[in-house]
Amino acid sequence: MSNAIRIDGKAKAAELSEEITAETAELLEQHGLQPGLAVVIIGEDPASQVYVRNKGKRAEGCGFYSVQHSLDAGTSQDDVLKLIDELNNDDKIHGILVQLPLPDHLDEQTITQSISPAKDVDGFHFINIGKLTSGNTADAFVPCTPAGCMLMIEDQLGADLSGLNAVVIGRSNIVGKPMAALLLQAHATVTICHSRTRDLAGVVHEADIVIAAVGRPNMVTGSWIKPGAVVIDVGINRSEVEVDGETKSKLTGDVDYDSVSEVAKAVTPVPGGVGPMTITMLMFNTLRAARLSAGLDS
Ligand code: NAD
Repeated sequence: MSNAIRIDGKAKAAELSEEITAETAELLEQHGLQPGLAVVIIGEDPASQVYVRNKGKRAEGCGFYSVQHSLDAGTSQDDVLKLIDELNNDDKIHGILVQLPLPDHLDEQTITQSISPAKDVDGFHFINIGKLTSGNTADAFVPCTPAGCMLMIEDQLGADLSGLNAVVIGRSNIVGKPMAALLLQAHATVTICHSRTRDLAGVVHEADIVIAAVGRPNMVTGSWIKPGAVVIDVGINRSEVEVDGETKSKLTGDVDYDSVSEVAKAVTPVPGGVGPMTITMLMFNTLRAARLSAGLDS
């Protein structure tokens, strides 16, 4: 029997979006300032096309000025850098996002580091990473996925995680590492696990908070979970399934929702958990970038 709370990321994201929309209208009315988001996509990756379209739609829904630059898969690195330089110097744009992954001939690090740290709403610039890991978050941009996870954890456990063990599975720069930094800042005792961790199930079993960001469907099962833990599933694994003779795309998380929800206090579903929060935090970061650009508090 499932006892766990189903953490409704979709509902929380909708609530936050409403607040962002209201604050955007206020910013325009009181300061004549409209947050602007530029999304750059290079190539034809179908999943990236969907993400970018959704980001643009959401930005417009919040009342932002929203532009999309779709570049050919063969665009040279110099041309990408030239566009980013233009956007860095465009006063109407407060947030710049380059959709990953990039085509193989482009260097991801050079491109992400060319975005002005003040417009880096993805939080991937070394300046923002440094601010986050040193606890100087007053004007830092925190990567959207871990920022969204943190809000959902706070809802369940409060903002002070003193005395709690948190285990992050996955050590990517986009999710695992910034997630660990945020949990540490909230005073949790943090362990980061990865592909070379021994006895992963045993380590996870000690955790009051589990964040799975691996990319392996249903890897974390109920037998790994300490009773009463809060479990956040970041994983997005796509598979093709046949429904009434039609092939459909299905999303599965890294957490086996059914068995985990028999043991945990609360679990995020996939879809409808972390995903909707990620895109909302992008809007939050863009509004914040606009406010900071005008010297307003964030
Ligand atoms: P990544 O591939 O960069 O990192 C995966 C991590 O998992 C690595 O650190 C690796 O060491 C670890 N790992 C791999 N196999 C493991 C194993 N057997 N045991 C323990 N650890 C193992 O991935 P990422 O970019 O961090 O993304 C992780 C997952 O989260 C993916 O499914 C991705 O699609 C998803 N994701 C979702 C969102 C969202 O908004 N919901 C955002 C970003 C990523």
